[in-house]
Amino acid sequence: MSWLERIRPKIRALVSTSTREVPENLWVKCPACGQMIFHRELAANLYVCTHCGHHMRIGPKDRLAHLFDGGTFNTIEPPKVPVDPLRFRDSKRYSDRLKEAQGKEGRAPGQDAIVIAHGTIGEMPAVVACFDFGFMGGSMGIAVGEGIVAAAKLAVLQQAALIVVPSSGGARMQEGILSLMQMPRSVIAIDQVKEAGLPYIVLMTNPTTGGVSASFAMLGDIHIAEPGAMVGFAGKRVIEETIREKLPPEFQSAEFLVEHGMVDMVVARKDLRDTLIRVLGHLMRPNPPAEVIPFPAEQAAPPPTEPQPSLPAPAR
Ligand SMILES: [Zn+2]
Repeated sequence: MSWLERIRPKIRALVSTSTREVPENLWVKCPACGQMIFHRELAANLYVCTHCGHHMRIGPKDRLAHLFDGGTFNTIEPPKVPVDPLRFRDSKRYSDRLKEAQGKEGRAPGQDAIVIAHGTIGEMPAVVACFDFGFMGGSMGIAVGEGIVAAAKLAVLQQAALIVVPSSGGARMQEGILSLMQMPRSVIAIDQVKEAGLPYIVLMTNPTTGGVSASFAMLGDIHIAEPGAMVGFAGKRVIEETIREKLPPEFQSAEFLVEHGMVDMVVARKDLRDTLIRVLGHLMRPNPPAEVIPFPAEQAAPPPTEPQPSLPAPAR
């Protein structure tokens, strides 16, 4: 036996244990620029790529912790809903799919694709309904509809602002017509918040599509979107095939929708909290906190000493 054959198993053992000790998910590859980012660094940067600024998906817990004062908030118990009312089955039972999704990522029992939390944002009371895309693509079934209704009721009860953070592929097809019924239900719930004179803000994240964008997500007093978020109803390819026209490459992006009036502003994730505080301050505190000093009358409008030259008529 040569020395090489003798040490080879030892080297192999050494290499294999060292690779086993390093979990595969310590480094995350940015889907936009392909750079590798250390998971702690990525979490500290709110899941925004440190190289190119691409906004990756952020879970509801991290999202809520970022938005609320001091990262503290209370979540409400998910409303009780009938499970699998249509006894739907494709390649798997729908009830099994639900159980599987609930078991993942430490979700609370009965938790569906929405988390309702309340607390303060900039010392103003706020209820946040945050979608969980990891739960069946954030799809809206009865549980999500019930969640929106519960969030709206809670906002009215607490005289708080309602902020919805959609991240959804649309209606949940396993619940058929019952998922579509959540569209008018959620719209009525939002109306109750508006009737109570409370602000309703939609914070669109990637993606905000289908039945979600066709109902409560497009009814905000203010629409804020994250950079690069896809916001639309049907997919781009489906629209192109229907209208037989080529659509611009940036179609359905948050930036495109600002230009076309569907979104009020695109705000980077790190600035979302401050933007919300500013917007809520305008909407919830109509009186400025300091005393208003009247502008001196003599300085306000100096009397014209010379006759003002008349403006030329605009050329047509
Ligand atoms: Zn990147």
